[in-house]
Amino acid sequence: MINHDVVVIGGGLAGMRAAVEAAERGADVAIVSKMHPVRSHSGAAQGGINAALGNREEDTPQNHAFDTAKGSDYLGDQDAIEAMCEDAPRQIIWLEHRGCIFSRLPDGRIAQRPFGGAGAPRTCYSADVTGLVILHTLWEQLERFNVKVYEEYFCTALCVEDGVGTGVVAYNMRNGELELINAKATIFATGGAGRMYAKTTNGYASTADGQAIAFRAGIPMMDMEFVQFHPTSLKENGVLLSEAARGEGAYLLNSAGERFMFKYAPNKGELASRDVVSRAEWTEILEGRGIDGCVLLDLRHLGREKILERLPQIRELALDATGKDAIDSPIPILPGMHYTMGGIETDIWGATRVPGVYAAGEVASPSVHGANRLGGNSLLETIVFGARSAKHACDYIKNVGSVKPSERTLKQEQDRIANWMGKSSGTRAPQLRAAMNKVMSDNVFIFRNEEQLQSAVDQLLEIRKQFDENVYVMDKSKTFNTDLVNTMETDYLIDSAMCVANGALARKESRGAQARTDYPERDDEKWMIHTLAWREQGKNPRLDYSRKVTITKWQPTVRTY
Ligand SMILES: Cc1cc2nc3c(=O)[nH]c(=O)nc-3n(C[C@H](O)[C@H](O)[C@H](O)COP(=O)(O)OP(=O)(O)OC[C@H]3O[C@@H](n4cnc5c(N)ncnc54)[C@H](O)[C@@H]3O)c2cc1C
Repeated sequence: MINHDVVVIGGGLAGMRAAVEAAERGADVAIVSKMHPVRSHSGAAQGGINAALGNREEDTPQNHAFDTAKGSDYLGDQDAIEAMCEDAPRQIIWLEHRGCIFSRLPDGRIAQRPFGGAGAPRTCYSADVTGLVILHTLWEQLERFNVKVYEEYFCTALCVEDGVGTGVVAYNMRNGELELINAKATIFATGGAGRMYAKTTNGYASTADGQAIAFRAGIPMMDMEFVQFHPTSLKENGVLLSEAARGEGAYLLNSAGERFMFKYAPNKGELASRDVVSRAEWTEILEGRGIDGCVLLDLRHLGREKILERLPQIRELALDATGKDAIDSPIPILPGMHYTMGGIETDIWGATRVPGVYAAGEVASPSVHGANRLGGNSLLETIVFGARSAKHACDYIKNVGSVKPSERTLKQEQDRIANWMGKSSGTRAPQLRAAMNKVMSDNVFIFRNEEQLQSAVDQLLEIRKQFDENVYVMDKSKTFNTDLVNTMETDYLIDSAMCVANGALARKESRGAQARTDYPERDDEKWMIHTLAWREQGKNPRLDYSRKVTITKWQPTVRTY
């Protein structure tokens, strides 16, 4: 058995930021990660991280908070939003003091670019490789504090004894053994769930593990119906071309060569928020003004020099996938699954309803994004809530003597795996994953309606049943059994997908990323409430609407850009 005071599940930005905070506070902290931390999806983040640094006098954390609340279509909890935006400048300086190399203005100040839905240019960046640069900065800090990393350990379950979190069970991918990791506090930082859709900008490891693990341990998932479709992903492989492209001035064009965004967002055009731009693109495509199922992202007028200096990765990604050079050719793009606004329900300190269990980063829902996230706010969320959850956890463990090792959770996980490994025939996970991907991409996409959502709910329940009754793992080996890991991940993805589809069917309104063609209006009277989903074994999740939206300063108004 492994013992630590604090265990962080996940080595992306949220996980590493949490671990460094705990280490700085003197806690005995370790990271459990299914892959090497610097390979986490955070490293793919291109565009940047938001903070009102005061580079321009008119920009303040309060403006940032207002833009975020408006961007959330007023579903975000404003206390959490204010906490994040107030902390943002401090966190950027914290990173910079630890060696993070941000792009600069000629006078030496940190440069900031405009991003969608923001009232001022407040996105700090390192060219178009921001996530990678911050990831390496934090990795250096982990080394500095000698934080133990259990690499290639796959967390399979959360332990809860006598109502408090007592650590996790993890599968050591190198030797096939399940191990009990006993801890006074557990912080989930396992990232997103993009792989529930057929095409996504997310990495292969974004499989909702942490969400489903917490869900199974009795913690509710919040606002899962709100899935962000990013306006500019490549048709060929779903890979993202960052919002930084539009931030630097790129145009969106339809088949007539028209900059169509001004029809939909007269003031902001291409820099309206992501839900607005994705719907506009999809409308153009549906109404026959697309080209081969896409619209065009045009960077040509930015000129060679600016593209090479500010957007080199975007040019390269597009060139690799399409053979087109953005310097002299527009790039075909379309909206793609990008981000889950919802996740494990937490408070503004990242604490869940189970004492000793926290969540931070994309896996969590402290409700800073509400129904739609603004670009650049997710990297910020990982850093702010990584640090906040670790701070709270370090305070919490001061009053915890020791925790009871959960042998029963270990046994339950051993039985779960033995069941799959013991069968010699049945259904294999990739088949069920493909079925789930199709259901989600066909029925729970940008525009939604009752008929499609009901069909998605029914089909997912059927997939859930098939998985529970028939799934088996063909590869019986103990060393790096990717068949087994893939089966686990599919198991978790199905739970998460069910929360998305059920939440979307029940919410009879359009708000942010949830666009119902049968309920096209936002309904503040009825739906200014969060969706909480609780797990029911083998059934659709039970939905509960007891958590109201917290409003501090900004009453909902009509949202235009
Ligand atoms: C292509 C792309 C570009 C983006 N660009 C931006 C941007 O410019 N600005 C912005 O604000 N946001 C951006 N985002 C969103 C943002 O990058 C992510 O939301 C954020 O980085 C997620 O960080 P995280 O630490 O929560 O998770 P991740 O970085 O995904 O890390 C998850 C970690 O959890 C571990 N893990 C997962 N499951 C398990 C398990 N079962 N057991 C053990 N370990 C596990 C993984 O090994 C990994 O280390 C982008 C996202 C993508 C996909």
